[in-house]
Amino acid sequence: MARRKPLKKVAQKKEMEKLATLFNCPFCQREHVCSVKMDRKMDIGHIKCDICLEDFQTKIHHLSEPIDVYNDWIDACEEANM
Ligand SMILES: [Zn+2]
Repeated sequence: MARRKPLKKVAQKKEMEKLATLFNCPFCQREHVCSVKMDRKMDIGHIKCDICLEDFQTKIHHLSEPIDVYNDWIDACEEANM
């Protein structure tokens, strides 16, 4: 019988929050250029395009993910275009 390697439990949660999450920009149409920062203390999500420098902030809660910030941005853009 093969011996099982012990599974190391690694606390990954903090690492994951540090990961930059890149989305497509609705303004300059480039892919993977908008980075999200989650400010958990202030309950604010920031997203900014590295190319055209458009940015947006929205309220977040403890379950919010970077994709939620991005979706809010897209909604806000669509409303602005109406
Ligand atoms: Zn852009």
